[in-house]
Order: sequence, then C-alpha cells, then structure tokens
Amino acid sequence: MTKPILLTVDDEPEVLQAVARDLRRRYGKHYGVLRADSGAAALATLEELAERGAPVALLLCDHRMPEMQGVELLARARAIVPDAKRVLLTAYADTEAAIAAINESQLDYYLLKPWDPPEERLYPVLDDLLDDWRGSFRPGFGGLRVIASRWSAEAHEVKDFLARNHVPYQFLDVETSDDARRLAGDGDAPTPLPLVILPEGERLAAPSLAELARAVGLRTEATQPFYDLAIVGAGPAGLAAAVYGASEGLATVLVERQAPGGQAGTSSRIENYLGFPAGLSGADLARRGVVQAQRFGVEVLAPQEATALTLDGPYKRLALADGSEIACHVLMISAGVAWQRLRAAGAEELAGRGVYYGAAMSEALSCKGEEVYVVGAGNSAGQAALYFAAYARSVVLVVRGGSLGTKMSSYLVDRIAASATISVRLHTEVAECIGGEHLEELVLRDRMSGERERVPACVLFIFIGAVPCTDWLGDVVARDRHGFILTGPDLDPPKHLKHWPLARPPYLLEANVPGVFAAGDVRHDSIKRVASAVGEGSVAVHFMHRYLASL
Ligand SMILES: Cc1cc2nc3c(=O)[nH]c(=O)nc-3n(C[C@H](O)[C@H](O)[C@H](O)COP(=O)(O)OP(=O)(O)OC[C@H]3O[C@@H](n4cnc5c(N)ncnc54)[C@H](O)[C@@H]3O)c2cc1C
Repeated sequence: MTKPILLTVDDEPEVLQAVARDLRRRYGKHYGVLRADSGAAALATLEELAERGAPVALLLCDHRMPEMQGVELLARARAIVPDAKRVLLTAYADTEAAIAAINESQLDYYLLKPWDPPEERLYPVLDDLLDDWRGSFRPGFGGLRVIASRWSAEAHEVKDFLARNHVPYQFLDVETSDDARRLAGDGDAPTPLPLVILPEGERLAAPSLAELARAVGLRTEATQPFYDLAIVGAGPAGLAAAVYGASEGLATVLVERQAPGGQAGTSSRIENYLGFPAGLSGADLARRGVVQAQRFGVEVLAPQEATALTLDGPYKRLALADGSEIACHVLMISAGVAWQRLRAAGAEELAGRGVYYGAAMSEALSCKGEEVYVVGAGNSAGQAALYFAAYARSVVLVVRGGSLGTKMSSYLVDRIAASATISVRLHTEVAECIGGEHLEELVLRDRMSGERERVPACVLFIFIGAVPCTDWLGDVVARDRHGFILTGPDLDPPKHLKHWPLARPPYLLEANVPGVFAAGDVRHDSIKRVASAVGEGSVAVHFMHRYLASL
C-alpha cells in the first residue's frame, strides 16, 4: 500500500522547503511528504490523490498566501479529503482568523510560526493528530475486509463493532462490487454473509461479535477471579474511574458490552470538553482513554456484558454474559443510557437496514450523495446532522418541538442554520418507516396540522430519549422509577437504607449498598455531559479509597 500523504502548502519557497524537511525528518519513514506552493496547486494535488485512492493524513498550510488564504484552502480541502487532519500555520497576528476557522471549517489545530524547535513546537501536535488519524483510518487494501449487502442488519452490526473498536476494515458490497461477489462465492456453496476476511486470509462466515472479537485480538476474559475495583461500562465515567483507580494502585477491571467510549465514543465531534479547543471526535477520546487506562494496568474486557450482580458479605460478584464470574471489593456502575426505540410502524423491522440508532458513523461513507434523515433535537442529533452533511447530498433534521434551541447548544443551532445542506422540519415526527429489503420511504406527520407526507428516504438516524442500562441489577441496587441509580443524598433513608449496615451514611456517588458506586448518565438526576461523567468517575475513586480503608 502507498504511504499516506502529508501535504504542506506555502507560497514562500524557503518556508515550504523547511517545513517539508522537518516533516520528512520525523515522518518520512511512514508517510510521503508532498509540497504545493499555492492553494490552487494544493487542491489540484488533492483531487489527483483522491482519484488515485491515495490516503491523505494531514494538510499543513500557511495562512497568508496570495489568491487563496490558508483558511479558505483548508475549508475547500475538506470536501475532497474529509478525513485528513487540517492544520493552519499562522503568524501570531492571525490567531483570530485561525480561531474563527476552527468554528467555521472545523480546523483541527493552528500552529504559530516560527515552529522551531520542531521537537517542541511542531512534532508533539502532529504526533497527536496523526495518532488520531491512524486510529480511524480505513485502509483500502491489505486490512480486514467485510463482505455483505449494504442493507444487511448483521453487516451493520459487524461494521459498527469494528469501527467502534478502532479495527480498520474495508467494506465490499455484494450488490455493487464484482470483487465482493467473487470473494463471497468462493467454494461450492454460497458463503453465509457477512463474510469477514482477516488480513492473513482466514474467512469468518457470519461470525458472532464474540468470535470476531477473539479473531481481532480483543480481550473478553478476565485474567483474575478477584479485583479491588470492577467497573461496568467504559464510557467517559468508567474510563475516568479506571484511570484514577488504577493509577492509585487499585487492581482494576473494566467490563464493556460494546466498545469503549460509550455514547461519547459515537460522537462525531465533541467541542465543549476542556483542553481540546478544536474539538475531538468521540473515537479519539475513547482511544486516548483506553490507552491511558491500559498504561496504568487496567484490564479492559470488551465486548463482555455484566448480566447480574450478587452480594456475598462485603464482596460483589458480577455474572458475565459468557457464563464466567468476577468478584471485587468495590463496584462502579457506569453503564450509561441507551437510545429509546422509535415508536413508528415499520421502524423495528427495518432497524439496521436503513434505520439506525445513534450516530452509526460506519454508515457515513455509504450516505454519499443521498438524502439523510436525522430524528432528534439534542446535541447528539445536531452533531450527527453536521457530520452527515459532509457526506450526504442533504440532511433533514426532524424535530417534534417548535424550536431547536430548547435542547441543543447554541453553537450547534447556529451552525445548522448556516449550513446549506441541512434543513430542519419543526413540529414533525416520523409516523412510519416503509421498505422491503431496506428503508425506502418515511411518512412524516405534522404535529400541528396532523397532515401526513410520504417522502423517499433510505437512511434514518435516531437520537431520541435515553433509558438507563440497569435492568440487570434487579433489586440489588436502589433505582428511581425510570431505572436511574440513586446515590448519596438522593437516597431516602426510610425507603432505601433499611438494610444499610454502617453507622455512616452513603458517600456521595455511593448506592444503597456499601462499596457499590454509580457515576455518569446512569445516575439519577445526573448532568448528561462528557465532563460531568469524567468528573464523577474520578471523584468516586476518592470515596472508594475511604471505603476500602474501612474494610
Ligand atoms: C452522539 C452523541 C454526542 C454527544 N456529544 C456530547 C458533547 O459534545 N459534549 C458533551 O459533554 N456530551 C455529549 N454527549 C453526551 C455524553 O456522551 C454522555 O453524557 C456521556 O457519554 C455519558 O458517559 P457515561 O460514561 O456515563 O455513559 P455512556 O457514555 O453511556 O457509557 C456507558 C457504557 O456502558 C456500557 N454498558 C451498558 N450496560 C452494560 C453492561 N451491562 N455490561 C457492560 N457494559 C455495559 C455501554 O455499552 C456504554 O459503552 C453526546 C452523546 C451522544 C450520544
């Protein structure tokens, strides 16, 4: 496979040469470094690379160039290489333009000139961005291949699983690719689909996620029977608890039923998390969190699901979906929430075949040139609309209420209003999903007039409501009437603490069982944000130490 490209652009020949030299010195072994001396030349190079299917990892552009400024070039480049990281090289005087470009064109970073010494002022930023790029890069050749019909629900599950676990893959659609048909038809009988072909050539026909996980080297079994701290759910809250717990010496295991990152892991761009002024994708946040946790020795089991909790004196026992069990001194429940199902005729039958819950970024490329429908009015729906707008012909945001601003942050409302690709249908709900093999039409109902309209549609993404993932807890842990876990001051002593055995009241974030904690979206009355989930996960570890000290 050709090396991924780093393209640097500057109209001053000496500067261009110096940047290219520094890039080659550090990255030349794994990346090809190309130069362009103007915006127009850079766009032409990108068009040519895209046509050849050559991957572009990074654009590093000077801002002040005649004819086309760096900010404009990076905005236009996005349409050609949407996945490349885009960095502006700018003078101090132009930082305002750079910050504006972060907002308008979703620039990844700006660097100030001079960038000397590059070891301090250039490479750390580029190392980070290139790590992120590699984390979500899907190589065209040589990697794992998934062969199926685009409209297969099982294929969607496999693609989503691989994408969310950062396993690069290439998807080949049997409906449109001769290669796919040839590979699937190999042998005497047709191969059950989806077919997964591993880089070494091994073929897995219609594998379960557990089989796939084993094949790609994910760990699903615990190495120990007992841990100081077991965490259920590897969203931001669980990852934060894991990092703090393990870094403070607790033997820690993290159990995740889908992929680390949780809901945040499905976000196309989180822009309000402190320390990332240009925002970062949920996939990047999750990858960083997992690496950090593993560095401190956390065992991450994924995919693996906690199915029941039992108490054995001070010990907590977790039953896992594969029939195994682990026990621990302290349990953290950070199982978050799942999307509510859309109650529209036909939605359930077409789930995974055009009707998707959450951002399903693995479907983005398939939406090229199509009209995409997004249901919901929260930040998640707004982010998804903006994300799919970069791929789709148009995006329609379907909103039940009369305004977007009620639930969505104003920065997203503004950007949606400014987008020529996104239209918003207020007072509207999806009444019916119609299709055979896959979604073909939607019936939209105007909630004011009751009027119904049938529109052609092949992709619908749903972001409505949230239900806590706590059914598996039964009566062991006190929950509110919606299933969210009650902790600390939310517990009503006469009602919830009848069997509480200690003289002290439950700590903040501690449930009605000593040593069982809850953090993040799964908790009653929590603030549904990445930062608060991370904060709660971290704070809980402080109380875990106090609990452990008292044992
Ligand atoms: C698309 C989208 C965009 C968002 N954008 C933003 C944003 O820009 N800024 C912001 O602040 N917030 C944002 N949010 C909200 C934010 O992501 C959540 O508040 C945050 O992820 C909550 O973290 P958590 O760890 O509590 O739970 P979750 O992220 O829900 O993670 C819970 C994890 O537990 C796992 N799990 C559940 N049950 C089990 C079980 N029985 N066994 C094992 N594992 C289990 C789940 O698979 C999941 O991975 C967004 C949410 C979405 C969906």
